[in-house]
Amino acid sequence: MSHDRDSLTLVWFRDDLRVEDHEALTAACGDGQVIGLWIRECRSDDGLGPRPLGGAARWWAHESLRVLETELAQLGIPLLFAAGSAADIVPQAAADLKVDAVRWSRRYAPAARRLDAQIKTDLADAGRAVHSHTGALLVEPWTVSPQGGDFYKVFTPFFNAVRDRSVGDSLPAPRTQSSPTKAQRQAFAGHSWVRDLDDLGLLDGTDTGSGSFASARTPQWWRTTVAGHWNPGCREAARELDCLSDGLDGYADSHDVPADPDSTSGLSPRLRFGELSPRQLLAAALDIPEVRDDDRQAWIRQLYWREFSWHLTYHLPAVESEPMRPEFASFPYEDDPEALDHWCSGTTGIDLVDAGMAQLWQTGWMHNRVRMATASFLTKNLLLHWWHGEQWFWDTLVDADEANNPVSWQWVAGCGADAAPYFRIFNPERQRERFDPDYEYVGRWLGRGPGGLTRAERSQGDREPIVDLKASRQAALAAYDRMKSEA
Ligand code: FAD
Repeated sequence: MSHDRDSLTLVWFRDDLRVEDHEALTAACGDGQVIGLWIRECRSDDGLGPRPLGGAARWWAHESLRVLETELAQLGIPLLFAAGSAADIVPQAAADLKVDAVRWSRRYAPAARRLDAQIKTDLADAGRAVHSHTGALLVEPWTVSPQGGDFYKVFTPFFNAVRDRSVGDSLPAPRTQSSPTKAQRQAFAGHSWVRDLDDLGLLDGTDTGSGSFASARTPQWWRTTVAGHWNPGCREAARELDCLSDGLDGYADSHDVPADPDSTSGLSPRLRFGELSPRQLLAAALDIPEVRDDDRQAWIRQLYWREFSWHLTYHLPAVESEPMRPEFASFPYEDDPEALDHWCSGTTGIDLVDAGMAQLWQTGWMHNRVRMATASFLTKNLLLHWWHGEQWFWDTLVDADEANNPVSWQWVAGCGADAAPYFRIFNPERQRERFDPDYEYVGRWLGRGPGGLTRAERSQGDREPIVDLKASRQAALAAYDRMKSEA
């Protein structure tokens, strides 16, 4: 590695808030001095840029950035903050700071890629070197395609094509750099685009939802309640990675038990914000000797579901708004704000659904099995458009992910590329009987204390279901038939 101390690189951090296994950062440190930049980006009027963060994710990003700032400072690297259009800020920052090169980890959603390509051209036109690196995925979407097709639309063939690929070794944190001088620091602060982290508005952004319950989503909510369940930042993420064996142990058999906090790893927000790389996760999973191989393999398979979501998102123009199966564009969804409010606020009268929505609201996270049940209830029993649920999850999940969220919603709604057949409708009562037979999960989140609800308690309740499960299932099937006959 050359150490040309005169060379100065700007590393633009996005969804990669870590210092270990960070190819762009390591390469930049190998070249000389480094300055970090993170921008609270807005989408341009012509739709370029990443999807604006939801409420819970804004809180997470703020906290995680504070930790990253400290970690980078220990390496002698300042982290600067800005807010606005990255198309304006990155070239401006590169010019003001007189950097020789700009590096970043690649992102894969079409609107963000288009923006990055534009910025790359602008920087290159201004005579700067620009390098993008792998960081967020094990399998970059363009590196795999089925014979005779552009991209995989079904998970299993995708998985079979990529599961044995070598992904290389994770990188350690780079070595400490020479810190900027006091004069340099003062010069940074003088640039018009430089902000304090606290001034980015991540903790006081306006909420975009509608409906009476949605108005309860204040920034204070995330800071007070959700904050009690998490400790964002790459430092804590590394500690959690060390405990991965807890989540993997018994995974093959028990990953569907929502009451057990160790039934899954709980690492999704770490991946979402890149506090850990998928390569670190894969290496850690392969490295735990005490875990049974079927548990390990079952978990690794899930990690590749995330890869598959990104594969689809990369190849499809608008996965957050367009159904992957085009015929679903004319599905006869209902317009029922009151039912939507019941779903968001967890007052549908269906135990598993209400418990899941309470877990989401209280913690910013929900177990996968319950995500499926609540999403199915919204789209099939209430016949509401999946957009509404996707948007609510986007705003309330700390792991809200531009690929996993819409792709999973489309999967449950039946309009996804690899969705289960529409007529396989989850019955949330049967799901509760199978996966929470002792009402442990339901009891915890519906506020009845350990031990859950007894059957007697349930039958006394004032929680009448807002729909009849059987009749609404029939209505969903009839709506599906109508869509098909009109297609
Ligand atoms: P583990 O079981 O420990 O799995 C490890 C990792 O594998 C996860 O962190 C995740 O990155 C990936 N993974 C696991 N299950 C899936 C899956 N079914 N699909 C894709 N990747 C998976 N996941 C998100 O990360 N962000 C979202 O916004 C999101 N929205 C969802 C919405 C709906 C309606 C549904 C049904 C699922 C959604 N998921 C989402 C997928 C899944 O529920 C979460 O990834 C999982 O619950 C995270 O918990 P964990 O980290 O403990 O997972």
